[in-house]
Amino acid sequence: MKVGVLAFQGAVREHIYMLKKIGVKAFPVRKKEELLDVDALILPGGESTVIGKFLKETGLGQEIIKLVKSGMPIWGTCAGMILLAKHIVNENYVHLGLMDIWVKRNAYGSQLDSFVIKKPVPGISEKPLELVFIRAPYAEKAEPCVEVILELDGKIVAARQDKMLATAFHPEVTEDVSFHKFFVEMI
Ligand code: GLN
Repeated sequence: MKVGVLAFQGAVREHIYMLKKIGVKAFPVRKKEELLDVDALILPGGESTVIGKFLKETGLGQEIIKLVKSGMPIWGTCAGMILLAKHIVNENYVHLGLMDIWVKRNAYGSQLDSFVIKKPVPGISEKPLELVFIRAPYAEKAEPCVEVILELDGKIVAARQDKMLATAFHPEVTEDVSFHKFFVEMI
């Protein structure tokens, strides 16, 4: 199994490191040939506007949409969650528009309002995981076809729809590989 990490910008190395730590072959993806060579894709955290611009300009966004619609597993962390969403409530655009969630960008405020909490995540880890929110989004709501994995103060911060996974926080900057294992099991 090969997992790609979209590598235009953001926490690319961190995801590759975590995947290798659990014995999965991981590669950066910037081009169509690289995308076609992997079985699943991670959209890292970073800046969704920047990553979204690259997706559009290179045409890779359209390729990703096609592959996900035909069943390729995909996981978006933070900016990646914004890229996946069908609705961005505080912007007048969408990027890939694949997941039936209504996300709010920078929902917790500025960089200074970034925070870490510890919580068990049902179905993923019984022991509390460090959840790192860096200028994070959350989802205000989701269609019933979306399985909510975790809510925080009534806001959706982890969710799954078919083979799509979205987390508002960054498991790749922690020591715990539970989320990466969960995604690999989805594949
Ligand atoms: N605030 C960023 C955005 O809107 C996301 C931040 C992150 O990925 N850590 O794209």
